[in-house]
Amino acid sequence: MELRAIYVCWDCIPVIANADYTHLDRDYSPEEADRRMQAIDQGLERLGWVMVGDTLKDLEHSTAPCDCCGEQPDGYRIHCYIEENTHE
Ligand SMILES: [Zn+2]
Repeated sequence: MELRAIYVCWDCIPVIANADYTHLDRDYSPEEADRRMQAIDQGLERLGWVMVGDTLKDLEHSTAPCDCCGEQPDGYRIHCYIEENTHE
């Protein structure tokens, strides 16, 4: 197993760090919050184990989609790690 750096958006990070979805209800309409929750859950299912990385490596602005939910809600990305199986 090797650690690989990924970059995720503000919507994904509370879910990764604390399994906390309450910010979605606060920031979005109920329909949009549901949609974002599903996108984040699907992202986490795909990524597997995710560890919050080094805040010094956060990206102030990125034009790439979030590595978890795949969306681009804003420019900031938080650095995280995933385990990558190098034997596949
Ligand atoms: Zn995201």
